Amino acid sequence: MNIVRENMMADPDYRPYVGCSCMSRARWNGKTFDCRCGWESKFEAEFIEAWKQKHKIPEGYKDNGWRRH
Ligand SMILES: [Zn+2]
Repeated sequence: MNIVRENMMADPDYRPYVGCSCMSRARWNGKTFDCRCGWESKFEAEFIEAWKQKHKIPEGYKDNGWRRH
């Protein structure tokens, strides 16, 4: 598992950086991790499911917005 995934599994508040040029952390939008520009993460469904299970992310939960750090 890469370091981003390890961090995500270890810390429920950890968010990966976006993969576009917006210089922020991704937001959990209830289905995937996204950016305000429309970029979305490409994590496979199995990883997303494992992450939700690990941290008991409630169904329908969304982050408020995008953090810079
Ligand atoms: Zn972006």
